[in-house]
Amino acid sequence: MKYLILCLLSLNIYANDLKNAPSSFQKGNKSYQFVDFQTVNYKISYDLKTQTAEYFAHIKFEITNKGYPLFDVVNAPEVIMIGADGTRFEENVSATLISLPNRTSEMFALDKEVEPGLYHLKITGKITRLVKFNSNTVRSAFWMSDLEDRAFLERYLPTNLDYDQYQMDLDVEVENSDVEHVLMVNCEKTELKKNHWKMSCPAYYTSSLLFFHLFEEGAYEVETFTMESINKKSVEFTVYTNETMSRYTELAKKVFVELENDYGPWLHDQMIIYGTGGMFGGGMEYAGATLTSIRALGHEMHHSYFARAMSPAGGNAGWVDEALASWRDSNYPRGGGLSRTQMGGHSEYNRVTDRNAYSKGMNFIAHIDEKVAEKNGLMPFLKDFGQTYKYQTFTTEFFQSKLEDFFNQDFSELFNGYIYGVAKSCGVNNPCVELMDLGAELVPENPYHPQLSEEQLENLL
Ligand SMILES: [Zn+2]
Repeated sequence: MKYLILCLLSLNIYANDLKNAPSSFQKGNKSYQFVDFQTVNYKISYDLKTQTAEYFAHIKFEITNKGYPLFDVVNAPEVIMIGADGTRFEENVSATLISLPNRTSEMFALDKEVEPGLYHLKITGKITRLVKFNSNTVRSAFWMSDLEDRAFLERYLPTNLDYDQYQMDLDVEVENSDVEHVLMVNCEKTELKKNHWKMSCPAYYTSSLLFFHLFEEGAYEVETFTMESINKKSVEFTVYTNETMSRYTELAKKVFVELENDYGPWLHDQMIIYGTGGMFGGGMEYAGATLTSIRALGHEMHHSYFARAMSPAGGNAGWVDEALASWRDSNYPRGGGLSRTQMGGHSEYNRVTDRNAYSKGMNFIAHIDEKVAEKNGLMPFLKDFGQTYKYQTFTTEFFQSKLEDFFNQDFSELFNGYIYGVAKSCGVNNPCVELMDLGAELVPENPYHPQLSEEQLENLL
């Protein structure tokens, strides 16, 4: 009985990931199903002799309705094997790239209809993006972007959409090189031997949280230090850069204290900072890690609370963390002009953060802060929200409901008009009122996440 209850509990935890998944959909007579990844073992080999990077992904997933399972990887996979969990039988299967119902994004579907249950999937393929071989060294990075479609882990490895949290373990090896390499990764790492590492990442990671950067030793100056969190836990900082090291280390320490003061204990065991200096002005956030210019460092560290500890379950929730980080960047202005947007109301298949988040989203947050000024403003809520729901994925609707619960106040009209872009509550007895822009924007578009060309990304290897 105990065993059964444990089983039910764990199934329930896994099934929870699907509650934030887009709806499964029908095309012709086929039913395409979003699935729940449970564990993935990735093996990645960089071979200096053949100058290729190959992966092998062993995925365990659950499908709750009969249909064709969906997954994603941008480079078409080479070989796919599938078998029911607990059996040795497995068969070769192909996959087809299909467009999602919103027609702006695509995913792979297995060309095999399966019954509900647990399965394992073995996929092999090559990583070709952001891999640079020299005769005796290799550099590789999994740089991501939430402002482009299919630009998270799927650029490099098979994964799921970012509603799905799963345990990922990695085995990474650089073969046929006598030069020592360094692997910067925000997971627990063990060096098995020179150029061969095993890693286990926190179980709450999704396709957008992993920081991964491989380079030859000596490529960057590296400095490590420990900060004591307000909860007495040690947080390991690793800063590496070819720019002025002290600018990064000093600012990082200051921002760490500021953020802990505002939002409570740091939510990660570490903070990895790759200081890109003048190479580009922006940055990108990962869980307790960032690639960043000095200007964007505070913004990116803020994302280690909102974005990459509790993380958006899809493109429609992406505006929240950018609005919050931008609000901090502007020193928490109170009161903001409102502009109509659809930041949280695009198609449920949207995978990209709406760029209005930096300006109009921030103004919306500043506006809410003014609405609750007599209740000490928004900050106590944000601290509570971040600490209570850390390590979970969230939707805009969830954020709104917790905000309303906290202040015991109805914000639906504001969210409907300025976030979802629809007057959701209007009907026969409640006619829609055209919501007007209430004022001018406080700041121009936030420059912290500029879009980079492939060449610029390669320069960051
Ligand atoms: Zn940001």
